[in-house]
Amino acid sequence: MLVVRSRPHRVPGVATVPRPSRAVLAALSAALVLTALPGAATATATAPAAPPTAAAAPDIALDRLLAQLADFEAIADANGGNRAHGRPGYAASVDHIQEQLDAAGFTTERQEFTAGGTTGHNLIAEWPQAATDDVLLTGAHLDSVGSGPGINDNGSGSAAVLEVALAVAESGLAPERRLRFAWWGAEELGLVGSRHYVDSLAPDELASLTGYLNADMVASPNAGYFVYDENPEIQAVFADWFAQRGVTTQASSEVRGRSDHAPFDAVGVPVGGVFTGAGQAKTAAQAELWGGDAGVSFDPCYHRACDDLANVDETALDRNADALAHAVWELGS
Ligand SMILES: [Zn+2]
Repeated sequence: MLVVRSRPHRVPGVATVPRPSRAVLAALSAALVLTALPGAATATATAPAAPPTAAAAPDIALDRLLAQLADFEAIADANGGNRAHGRPGYAASVDHIQEQLDAAGFTTERQEFTAGGTTGHNLIAEWPQAATDDVLLTGAHLDSVGSGPGINDNGSGSAAVLEVALAVAESGLAPERRLRFAWWGAEELGLVGSRHYVDSLAPDELASLTGYLNADMVASPNAGYFVYDENPEIQAVFADWFAQRGVTTQASSEVRGRSDHAPFDAVGVPVGGVFTGAGQAKTAAQAELWGGDAGVSFDPCYHRACDDLANVDETALDRNADALAHAVWELGS
């Protein structure tokens, strides 16, 4: 996540009103089809059938998330201690993720841009099922700052998005909406990769982008449970998932405008996401709610060399990856 709050980047004349829910429309049309089936009336008269529900998302395994983080740390260790834009540790991170996605059956593509006089890359992976006119995009920034390996910021979000994508492939999901996944470059330089992606879209491509989910810092060691509040419908999908597990979530002003959802929000794409806190201190009330230490940053190693494998709350990582999988399944299928 960015240190400095970036100025909102709104495009004049573009409304940011939430679009109608595709999921709700799909559920309604599925219900209509079901009631039209021959024999449905007699079946419901004797034994009411359960309402149609989409398959539940699989559990994202914590050991696999931790193995991805260990790979990121090993990449940083072998490349000068970081995975920053323009450095070999970033290129190795892209290679490592792309290999796994290609092997799982994704169509992958690297998008080039320039930042700070150096070539950067976004990695885009497309699950080649469903029409391309209704796309749910899920993303995380893959670059670290120069001062450390970036395991919580943002190996954690990168690993969560990757394992959700791999779970889509492993479960053979045939979604209603097109599922696309992205790992952004040069976020730490000012959301450069995600802004470039948004700017590169033709009008019809932008119109087809009906949702963006972001994961930036989801394993903070003094974790909070924050859900983005830009879009109430997406917010509810995450918040309800946590509530069903006894975890109360809050909105956070700390992440607003400071990660890769901002360029999408600015052009009217409905956005959502999860966040466990960065440099702000946990309040006494929040410590009561979630445990951990009041008066201490959510991530005391934010943007420091100590943002390594030891800088991870495994419960927060596990919960947030599962919540992200739930959101992709719920909103996408
Ligand atoms: Zn950051």
